[in-house]
Amino acid sequence: YRVFLKSRPGINGVPVASNFALEKTVWPTLPLENEVLVQTLYLSVDPYMRCRMNEDSGVEYTKAWSLGGTITGGGIGVVCVSSCDGFKRGDIVMTAGFDWPWVNYHNFPGEILKVVTEVPKEQLSMMLGLFGLTGLTGCLGVTEKGNIVPGMNQTVVVSGAAGACGSVAGQVAKIKGCGKLVGICGTETKCKFLTEELGFDAAICYRSQNVADNLSSICPNGVDVYFDNVGGEISNSVITCMNKSACIILCGQISVYNEDKPYPPPLREETESFVKKQRISRDRFLVLNYQNKFGETLEFLQASFKAGKLINKETTVHGLENAGIAFIDMMNGQNIGKQIVKVSELKTP
Ligand code: NDP
Repeated sequence: YRVFLKSRPGINGVPVASNFALEKTVWPTLPLENEVLVQTLYLSVDPYMRCRMNEDSGVEYTKAWSLGGTITGGGIGVVCVSSCDGFKRGDIVMTAGFDWPWVNYHNFPGEILKVVTEVPKEQLSMMLGLFGLTGLTGCLGVTEKGNIVPGMNQTVVVSGAAGACGSVAGQVAKIKGCGKLVGICGTETKCKFLTEELGFDAAICYRSQNVADNLSSICPNGVDVYFDNVGGEISNSVITCMNKSACIILCGQISVYNEDKPYPPPLREETESFVKKQRISRDRFLVLNYQNKFGETLEFLQASFKAGKLINKETTVHGLENAGIAFIDMMNGQNIGKQIVKVSELKTP
């Protein structure tokens, strides 16, 4: 089977599950020379995919999906048959880019695959989350842009805090020695998860609580670091609580991904002048610009996880046929932690 793009939501439209469709495909042939036949185990669904649903992705790091074309993204799989040196049956493999097709089986050119040795078999999905791009994003965003100094008792706020990047960003901010850690997210259950399981000091549900009022009472000394995953009104409220020379880690702006806006979208006029007056930094953060730090960051994430300082959370949807639904669910906040699609079980040979 393959999942393909059946229709586009429109640049200002809300994506729906029927934008994706499933169809039977012919069984792939045996791999040609230098090819590897791979079975997909897990797929990643991510907010950046929203821009790939438009005719033009509008970003430099990824292309739009073509209508009728197979959806591609992050994935991990197991080698069934190899005709390429360096790969053998049973190897776990990934690609470096966002080019894993949403299919059960695929012949990959060996040159774009790498063998995964970093994790045991029961943690493979983590290569798409905590130990993959979202974990690296949460961690590198904080370490490269957060200016967290232990002992300074800085107040850190994370929006989209219960998601894949946000949950890692918050935990890493604590590990790196921040003072108060506050999360903003969409449900009471997520708030509980943040405070009871991830070590956040407080959490605000933006759907049922007033963000600005709650923030000013939770953070009487103002906000020093803001890890921004969402943008829009939530960020507006956070920014107005920020201290002089505070910093915004501009990670994502999911609240406006269904709107035809430039990235990053401009702030409201009065917020923009507040940012200038307070000398708040708001640099765009793109994890792909830090590939030279991926190795050491992965080691840090793995060591912190092993030591029990970092909790991994995933929400798993089962079956290739539900991958489109998993993407829509994630965009609508149904996930806690990283949203994963489990396509097939790894069979022990
Ligand atoms: P998440 O796991 O955080 O899932 C998306 C979450 O966004 C949902 O669970 C939902 O949680 C929240 N959300 C959806 N719509 C809104 C809205 N209108 N207002 C507020 N929150 C909303 O996804 P990721 O962790 O993968 O991505 C988080 C952000 O990080 C995205 O903006 C993404 O584009 C960005 N990103 C940036 C990278 C970079 O290099 N800069 C790399 C990877 C991701 P809730 O219930 O709280 O609403």
